Amino acid sequence: MTDWPVARTRDEALVYLDLNPCECGSVETEWDSGVVSSGGALVKCYSGACEGCGSDREYLFSLPRREVMPSGWPTFGGPEPSQLLDAGEWLWLADFTAGNVPEDPENARRVLSMACAAVEEVLKFIPEGQDNVPAEAFWSARGREVREAEPPRFRRDRLLVVRDTYRELADR
Ligand SMILES: [Zn+2]
Repeated sequence: MTDWPVARTRDEALVYLDLNPCECGSVETEWDSGVVSSGGALVKCYSGACEGCGSDREYLFSLPRREVMPSGWPTFGGPEPSQLLDAGEWLWLADFTAGNVPEDPENARRVLSMACAAVEEVLKFIPEGQDNVPAEAFWSARGREVREAEPPRFRRDRLLVVRDTYRELADR
């Protein structure tokens, strides 16, 4: 048995890799990906040389139970919550991208689509019938920091407003 976290899609894996730099601090790596066998199971392997220090980097991910067909960019995954980024990290990503929207309309649309999809990922952590992202959806230091800074941001109603705002801006 392997217990690598599931990467639901390539877009999700690449976001995760961007948030997890090499020991030297660089995130610049040309990633090659392929399916390999590990411990009797098929896993997805991302490997490449760090452009900062030259070290070989390698990350393994479990395959999703059901493959998600990308529909537009980005496609982070199906309806199930992420195993790679926690709820706080997804909101951090949304804040970061929405705070750095470029002038050029085409790139602006991509960045806002990313922000919108990231908020959508936060919403996936909220169990049906509940109004808040539960505490167990925050497992990283960065994610917990975002939550502690302003816990009410993780209410369903507020997340929906933010998501719809980014979507409208992206569609403009
Ligand atoms: Zn490095």
